[in-house]
Amino acid sequence: AKSRLEDVRERLGKRGAELLGLQFADLFGAIKTVYVHRDEFDSALAGKTMFDGSSVPGFARVERSELLLLPDPETIRFEPAVPEERGVAYAYCDVLDADGEPAACCSRTILKRALREAEKLGYTLNVGIEGEFFLFETDDRGEPIHVVHDRAGYFDGGPSDRGERARLDIVAALRRQGFRLEAAHHEVAPGQHEIDFKYGDAMTAADRWMTFRQIVKQVAHRHGLHASFMPKPFAGQNGNAMHCNQSLQRRDGSNAFFDASRPDGLSETARRYIGGLLRHAQGMAAIANPIVNSYKRLLPGYEAPTHIAWSSSNRSALVRVPSSRGAGTRVELRTPDPAANPYLVLAVMLRAGLEGIASRIEPPAEVVGNIHDMSDTERRDARIGRYPRDLHEAVEAMMADPLVRETLGDAVCETYASAKRREADEYAAAVHGWEIERYLARY
Ligand code: GLU
Ligand code: MG
Ligand code: MG
Repeated sequence: AKSRLEDVRERLGKRGAELLGLQFADLFGAIKTVYVHRDEFDSALAGKTMFDGSSVPGFARVERSELLLLPDPETIRFEPAVPEERGVAYAYCDVLDADGEPAACCSRTILKRALREAEKLGYTLNVGIEGEFFLFETDDRGEPIHVVHDRAGYFDGGPSDRGERARLDIVAALRRQGFRLEAAHHEVAPGQHEIDFKYGDAMTAADRWMTFRQIVKQVAHRHGLHASFMPKPFAGQNGNAMHCNQSLQRRDGSNAFFDASRPDGLSETARRYIGGLLRHAQGMAAIANPIVNSYKRLLPGYEAPTHIAWSSSNRSALVRVPSSRGAGTRVELRTPDPAANPYLVLAVMLRAGLEGIASRIEPPAEVVGNIHDMSDTERRDARIGRYPRDLHEAVEAMMADPLVRETLGDAVCETYASAKRREADEYAAAVHGWEIERYLARY
């Protein structure tokens, strides 16, 4: 039988690929690519492509500088997303250290480890991500400006709208890559769009989320627009979320979150998984909401979560359980935003849920009313905790959470924390327009 590698080699040849883009995420989730020429395909597929780790954000302090890339044959895509990519194939890679062992800084490996742990317990994690982004105008030089391209709102649009045409093009490009999508629409804020993935295995979901952000930007660019995944581009408008719908699948293919014998159809496993997500919500915050701007999204009144609670209806809760049951039973984590590293988000989220199951964590009662309308006392009685208010708080909560530290590994956790503390400090030291407006004349 032909090996998977030979098969890939043959397909690259048949498709006439001239270049193979080896891709991976830096520690903060940005996509990195090195293109290798056709003559080097064999060595690239064998994991021999070397790169300088000290130039990749988040890698330098964890690793010695020389690192290798091992492409995952399952992830190869041949179809160009935009015409300029003709003859270029892409693959996601694991990052190896110089000895050929998985490197500590490889976020794909961090997720793999978490998935393996689930597998040992008899579960596969399925994930369906919902992606939100804004389309901005560009200036004469093609630089993005802080002006959106339309004044439309939820589900609006029309063929004359440039944003709508860009979005339809994005959807077509994603489908050519084999993405299975559930929906695409204009979102609530002017210039804001959403594209929802159909659920699938977690690793594929994370790899595709990386590709998704790249393709959205490429296609928008062809329409003279700039796509931004910044969590909160405008005060006073909704921000961008990366909702993670998730469920555990048993070996027999059934959904472990569904239990027909219960009035709400939710299994004990699902309840405890939610219990784990809530217990580690604060510790996961620096991963799910990794930049200063992330915390401006998480304010009352913008469909974003602000408190640690779960609900089957309420969007102010951090975990929502959508109404579908049977195979579609799932839990939606609403905190993550698109600035996050998707591999790390899924890894900490899964391990938090698994701990909930293993330690039989019973979540507090579901919240029915609007959390923002409750008094502090009511919230305390309902065991509703507060989410970190800013990046500083989030980093300290992460460092204080043994489960998150263990998931990332100590070296990665410390590198991540020190980069994020620096970012938060820099912001705190800056003098903002708001302060000038408010104070300059008055004092
Ligand atoms: N854009 C909202 C947020 O920032 C989410 C809207 C929705 O529920 O789709 O979380
Ligand atoms: Mg949405
Ligand atoms: Mg959602």
